[in-house]
Amino acid sequence: MIFINITKKSCYKGNLLLVSPEYPVGRYISEQEMVPALKEEDKVVLDGWAAIALERLIKSVHIENEISLVSGYRTRMEQERIWEDTIRESGLEFTKKYVAVPGHSEHETGLAIDLARRKENIDFICPEFPYTGIFLEFRKKAPQFGFIERYVKGKENVTGIGAEPWHFRYVGCPHSLIMTEKGLALEEYIKFLKEYTDLERPYVYHSAEEDVRISYISVKGDRAEEIQIENRERFTLSGTNEGGVVLSRWKRH
Ligand SMILES: [Zn+2]
Repeated sequence: MIFINITKKSCYKGNLLLVSPEYPVGRYISEQEMVPALKEEDKVVLDGWAAIALERLIKSVHIENEISLVSGYRTRMEQERIWEDTIRESGLEFTKKYVAVPGHSEHETGLAIDLARRKENIDFICPEFPYTGIFLEFRKKAPQFGFIERYVKGKENVTGIGAEPWHFRYVGCPHSLIMTEKGLALEEYIKFLKEYTDLERPYVYHSAEEDVRISYISVKGDRAEEIQIENRERFTLSGTNEGGVVLSRWKRH
């Protein structure tokens, strides 16, 4: 048996962090924790796992020469600068729709990437990333590599952010696959896990080779909770940034 201590700190680490108008980034995530998003484009940096997954996704669709990475990880200061510049250039209403309030941007976690069709003049705030051809193929494959389209049309009331066809978020597998299958935004997915699962009652995701048992665990106060994992059982633990953690355990058939 392996014993894992879940503490308040566990809520602020991992791929399932919910950062939104309601939930600010819960701990400062520094640039030191990031790696270049692609070897060829080291100006854009991302969380290490997100970067590996993005590179694999891009290669699997052979879209390397048609895609540009517009924006990945941003420091709080960069987010503040973008917020202020956009207000100056396009007004407050537009800014509120497409730029997250500093402290509330997924880009501050290193788990989000804005992508564009490669061309000469790319709009930094609203880059063009079409729903056709190779770009559509990229969108369809993204969940297999752990990415979701985070702000889709029709979910503005859930996310509080306008539709952003260029903004992709790494959440990891199988969460990306479940959200896509069920048509859930990250807010809705975490709410679903919180309402319907716990350690004894996991949600079970079935695939051809394995089952993944997913449980939401509420973290209350500063007291650590100890959970047990079987030896050699593959698992991940991610904070939700809204008061809990999600434990995922894999079992091969
Ligand atoms: Zn973005």
